[in-house]
Amino acid sequence: TEELLRKSEKLSVVGQLAAGVAHEIRNPLTSIRGFIQFIQEGHYKQEYFQTILSELDRIQSVVNEFLVLAKPQVIHFTPRNLPPLLHQVVELLQTEAILNNVQIVLEIDPVATMVNCEENQLKQVFINILKNAIEAMPYGGQITIQLKQQGEALSIRILDQGEGIAEERIPKLGEPFYTTKEKGTGLGLMISYKIIQAHQGTMKINSQRNKGTTVEIHLPVCEPLE
Ligand code: ADP
Ligand code: MG
Repeated sequence: TEELLRKSEKLSVVGQLAAGVAHEIRNPLTSIRGFIQFIQEGHYKQEYFQTILSELDRIQSVVNEFLVLAKPQVIHFTPRNLPPLLHQVVELLQTEAILNNVQIVLEIDPVATMVNCEENQLKQVFINILKNAIEAMPYGGQITIQLKQQGEALSIRILDQGEGIAEERIPKLGEPFYTTKEKGTGLGLMISYKIIQAHQGTMKINSQRNKGTTVEIHLPVCEPLE
């Protein structure tokens, strides 16, 4: 039943989102259509192709992020060790980080580090948060990932030295399609909140304008079954 509950919760999220996704896709489609019509009528301009391509990219990112939730998959929670999982995620984002002059530092306290999780979903959360951190530091900087045990929970903090978020915007984070980026989807944090919730965890964001942002996730420690 717990599995079913998770599934139905997921479906309702997908339901809520469908209208939003349609909207997010309709806008770029309308603009692509307009530009192609323009070209067809002989108003040829080279930059129209750039616009069309970036509108297509936009549709692709919305669809990609949405797929994470929409994929009809049964969620299997299995005990996983967090440090290797974090290392893998950092490895995945290393090229993007280097290209942006960003250094990612992992600080792992030697503690119980097993969590019961759906590995790919948890990776998705860390990827979303690390991407935001990289994107918040256009001139480079450092991202620190700290893993600690806090009582019954594991705390994972991701700190960046980026532009930060104004206090009045913090409540908007996690709302579907809330983005301040030209090429953003505004889905990353919403999906992350949902995934952490499904793992009986919590996620909090603290930020200071021009200082940086800290995302803190708490997940229940998984007791070894021996
Ligand atoms: P997207 O990255 O596509 O905009 P997200 O849901 O990942 O969507 O993030 C929503 C918004 O939250 C971002 O557009 C940005 O304004 C803000 N945000 C998230 N993480 C950070 C961060 N580390 N530093 C500054 N702003 C952030
Ligand atoms: Mg994002």
